[in-house]
Amino acid sequence: MSFSELGLSPELLRAVADKGYDMPSPIQVQAVPAVLSGRDVLAGAQTGTGKTAGFILPILQRLNADAAHAAGHAPRALVLTPTRELAAQVADSSRSYGKYLRLRTYQVFGGVSINPQISALRSGCDILVATPGRLLDLAQQRAVDLSKVQVLVLDEADRMLDMGFIPDIRRIIKLLPQQRQNLLFSATYSDDIRGLAERLLHDPLSIQVAPRNAPIELVEQRAYRVQKEQKRHLLVHLIQDGQWRQVLIFTRTKHGANRLTQQLEGAGIRAAAIHGNKSQAARVKALEMFKQGQVTALVATEVAARGLDIKELPHVVNYELPNVPEDYVHRIGRTGRAGAGGEAVSLVSSDESSLLRDIERVLRRPIPTVPTPVFKIVESAPQPASHRPPQGGARHAQGNSRGHKGSDRRDSRRVSGSGSGGSRSAGQQRGRQH
Ligand code: AMP
Repeated sequence: MSFSELGLSPELLRAVADKGYDMPSPIQVQAVPAVLSGRDVLAGAQTGTGKTAGFILPILQRLNADAAHAAGHAPRALVLTPTRELAAQVADSSRSYGKYLRLRTYQVFGGVSINPQISALRSGCDILVATPGRLLDLAQQRAVDLSKVQVLVLDEADRMLDMGFIPDIRRIIKLLPQQRQNLLFSATYSDDIRGLAERLLHDPLSIQVAPRNAPIELVEQRAYRVQKEQKRHLLVHLIQDGQWRQVLIFTRTKHGANRLTQQLEGAGIRAAAIHGNKSQAARVKALEMFKQGQVTALVATEVAARGLDIKELPHVVNYELPNVPEDYVHRIGRTGRAGAGGEAVSLVSSDESSLLRDIERVLRRPIPTVPTPVFKIVESAPQPASHRPPQGGARHAQGNSRGHKGSDRRDSRRVSGSGSGGSRSAGQQRGRQH
């Protein structure tokens, strides 16, 4: 199947060719004709498989064909995303796929000044990509007219329809015309969300290009059993020993992300944090530095799990397992994108065993637990020379910040995951706790 067989216009085919795509991905093969037909769509596709083009290409085509209705300034397609980064990314994709058409795409999200957004909306756009909160602010200020929206897309629909977002989504839907096309795209759907989604859709076409909730096959997954307070040392070992150049690390809390970033920096690994407490400028900067290889490690909370497309990202680490098992699929979906391989490593402490089981239930397969390598405990604070961990042949030894002499090597803190999942760490952590 080629792009031209999908019924796309020459302008869109040219833009796709410019991107270097040889053929449509499976979700595109199914979604493009479905969206072109005007029907509502409920699509489940793995992350990184090209679902953005799956809905944006046919939307561009439909809006372009319907140029007669473009007389006003009001958006005719609305794409809602859960995060600012994803909104910016989808809008970029839309501009690049639509570069040979005279359609305008604009994005709005919180964390940045609202006034430039008000001015830009005044000059009009055809496709508006938005996060819900800022869109409602703009609607309240009458800066955006949503009454001309013909197509509504919920990207990462499961997140958009969960408890946090659903009140905003309901309010936004009230501002839209009743007659419209609804498109729901996500890698994962829980049963509750699927029920809700189906009530929102009218006679939907259901598209599922991969087994439900399956992570992308190209991602090699493994888990290490490790004591909570030793995770950072194992992480430093994995990065340094494996000579990782680019790793995205997920923590559960913003505070935890900041702390780990400092600890990695202390160990000589260049790192930046990205989470909801950072200003939008700081988030953009951290992501850019990471994409350009200026930092090795990007430490993120769930905010970065959705949708971010980082070219050929080789490593993802779950420093802490997510509380919501489906989030695991999104996190590891940051690697293995667009056909490239990748690896996803989870550091699992004993209190996270039940979270691991929940994830494996969603995946419908176990995540291999592999033996934990021997790693050094190296405190980042400067230490007197006599207290430094052994050098040279000590690569597999564990040092300790307090009085742990070179001759007193202990492998007792080797943590071994045998598949049974039990941590056999016997050593005592005498060093500073993080
Ligand atoms: P998405 O799932 O939409 O975030 O897309 C993931 C990545 O796949 C992006 O880098 C796209 O540029 C790329 N991509 C999308 N469609 C294709 C295609 N048909 N062939 C090759 N790469 C693609």
